[in-house]
Amino acid sequence: MNAFTFYNPVKLHFGADTLEKLANELTQFGEKVLVVYGGGSIKRNGVYEAVVEVLKKADKTIFELSGVEPNPRVETARKGITLCKEENIDLVLAVGGGSVIDCAKLIVAGAKHEADAWDIVIRKVAVQDALPLGTVLTLAATGSEMNSGSVITNAETEEKFGWGHPAVFPKFSILNPAYTVSVPKDHTVYGIVDMMSHIFEQYFHNTTNTAVTDGMCEGVLRAIMEAAPQLVEDLENVALRETILLAGTVGLNGFLSMGSRGDWATHNIEHAVSAVYDIPHAGGLAILQPHWMRLVVSVNPERFAGLATRVFGVETAGKTFEEVAYEGIDRLSAFWTSLGAPSRLADYEIDATKFEQIVAHAMQNGPFGNFKQLQEVDVRTILQNAL
Ligand code: NAP
Ligand code: FE
Repeated sequence: MNAFTFYNPVKLHFGADTLEKLANELTQFGEKVLVVYGGGSIKRNGVYEAVVEVLKKADKTIFELSGVEPNPRVETARKGITLCKEENIDLVLAVGGGSVIDCAKLIVAGAKHEADAWDIVIRKVAVQDALPLGTVLTLAATGSEMNSGSVITNAETEEKFGWGHPAVFPKFSILNPAYTVSVPKDHTVYGIVDMMSHIFEQYFHNTTNTAVTDGMCEGVLRAIMEAAPQLVEDLENVALRETILLAGTVGLNGFLSMGSRGDWATHNIEHAVSAVYDIPHAGGLAILQPHWMRLVVSVNPERFAGLATRVFGVETAGKTFEEVAYEGIDRLSAFWTSLGAPSRLADYEIDATKFEQIVAHAMQNGPFGNFKQLQEVDVRTILQNAL
């Protein structure tokens, strides 16, 4: 293991009685609350009404920013930042999925700085401080509810980057599995792919003596793979929603990367693809990750074979590590396809026309990936194989 310092200050309220918890949390913050949400799913499933009722009971003055896009845009965060500054907002409450939370993270940071929000995303400006952020999560996927990362798109420049700072960790996050029951099948599947991908990104490292985190990664993956096929056939099953909800949070709250540094190359390439084509983040991951795996398997076939055996149930007798590893990758692809995830760029009508733009975006900060460092030619190969 590498030496590490673990810090995660997010207070997580998980379960059915979460509105009571929200009421308690609100007592610590001032009167003016900016509620940030997306395109209206929270109005259709009753979450908006429930949250607003708690805010009113707590005598809060409510401000609203709605319309946060999936793949949230920097322009939307700018609107929220202006509102925070003009109205002296005391607390930003993000109610929605990862996109809403990521946008709210940029809002709370931008509200405390004079610089343009995009300069925070591209790390031209160092974050010093942020307004307090609380979240009510409605979609299991990103882990954003319990981490300090955020991914923002600039539609004008066709760029999409991740950034983060400890100041934007949510102060609290409310996770009620019942709030995720209305997530339609496609976004349920995207969420499952995203959380699995986060685990793979952290699992593939070159650090030794990581039995604890390896076991945690494999255990969470097995739990997801047992629940997911049942859930896509039974979307209103709260017990299955509960399993998937916790898996998404644990998948990217730092637990799984204690003592090691993950890879994150697939996420980097996916951000480049969805910056240009605005496809769902996890749709891109489902297409790209198996191809990344096939490209890097030779770095450590034994590690891939271990995953294939313990998570995908591949038999090992009489086979080489490579054979077991490839069988595991094929099973992963088949699993995602069986849930309804896309498997080729053509599924989104993406051809090679803009590959050079995507490659340039992915290579913006030079070669990347920690399990295997990828060069331009590798990115091209992955994209080509994913056509
Ligand atoms: P999302 O983009 O937040 O939401 C996807 C869709 O699901 C939206 O149309 C949303 O509708 C709808 N939705 C949300 N909750 C719902 C509910 N309870 N019932 C019905 N519909 C619901 O999805 P996400 O996967 O959570 O977030 C994706 C973004 O997160 C991407 O930009 C990705 O790059 C980023 N990301 C961030 C991290 C991180 O650590 N910060 C990690 C991975 C990915 P409404 O808009 O109407 O609410
Ligand atoms: Fe992700």
